[in-house]
Amino acid sequence: MNTEKTYTLADLKVWDYPGTALAVIGKPIKHSLSPIMQNAALEQLSLNDNRFKEWAYFRFEIDPEDLSEALEFFYQKRFLGLNLTVPHKVMALGLLKTISNSAKAIGAVNTLKWTASGYEGFNTDGYGMSKGIEQGLGKGLNENHVLILGAGGAARAAVVECLSQKAASIRILNRSKDRLDAMLSSLSELKGYESIIPIEAKEDLADLPEMGICINATSLGLNQNDPLPLDMAFLTPQWAVYDMVYNPQKTQLFIEAKKLGCAAKTGLGMLVHQGAQALEIWTEQKIDAHIMHNASENILSNQAS
Ligand code: NDP
Repeated sequence: MNTEKTYTLADLKVWDYPGTALAVIGKPIKHSLSPIMQNAALEQLSLNDNRFKEWAYFRFEIDPEDLSEALEFFYQKRFLGLNLTVPHKVMALGLLKTISNSAKAIGAVNTLKWTASGYEGFNTDGYGMSKGIEQGLGKGLNENHVLILGAGGAARAAVVECLSQKAASIRILNRSKDRLDAMLSSLSELKGYESIIPIEAKEDLADLPEMGICINATSLGLNQNDPLPLDMAFLTPQWAVYDMVYNPQKTQLFIEAKKLGCAAKTGLGMLVHQGAQALEIWTEQKIDAHIMHNASENILSNQAS
């Protein structure tokens, strides 16, 4: 078995890896950093515990219409853990019997663990973001004003995390009003919901507090020519900016925020910590996220040079 190869549903049907298998599934999946960082962490674990020598983390490209069948095969072949990425995170929710409370609140799962009664679903994105912000910006969400850009899956995880960490207020700006409204109505039962302030018109940004944390949870920044997700004139240097996009490592938003004098960080820390928490769920061991960070940063730096 080759942990660098991209496997398919056909490969899964004849899967015969004798060890404990983990995998990330999505489409596209070829450029996922998860196999590199998870296998680096497994190698580290195996130095002190022989059990982990036969653990390995693979990647599978699975079409959305094949997700249900694929999950049955992953279960049958006893994959202990799965990470789900685009476009499976929401769809998988309907295929699971047991789902953690935070994943239910977010409305998406990114981590599954094999249990005797089926896969159990979790969502580690909010935790990953919160750790990425704490370590990258040197401040936490608690009692801070937050401005979230976007209303997709990652933004929902961000809002639920901000609610659970008791942010002072949570402003949300999204391109399409329908998606923002749908997100708001699905979160309306959550504790602290009244601290959410939807930004209906860009002019409302003129009323931003003096300082806070701005989180980009849109996909703007993934491509070099993308426009900025926010007019920087609305921010002061006292704002900190966290861009969930991690490739490129220096997004335009990051560059402009730095120019303005803001603390700023892109999303590699979030990626690493959501992965580290997933590995903790599967292994029940404390994971050293530094190893995962170094492994993925090496790949990104090589790609950039
Ligand atoms: P979704 O597709 O669910 O949501 C995309 C969001 O981006 C929507 O709010 C959408 O707005 C907005 N958007 C897309 N194009 C534009 C545009 N041209 N102008 C303005 N807004 C736009 O994606 P996810 O929520 O899953 O992911 C969002 C981002 O977060 C991605 O860049 C992803 O890579 C990153 N991410 C990073 C993680 C990490 O570990 N660092 C983990 C998860 C995600 P609309 O509703 O109007 O379409």
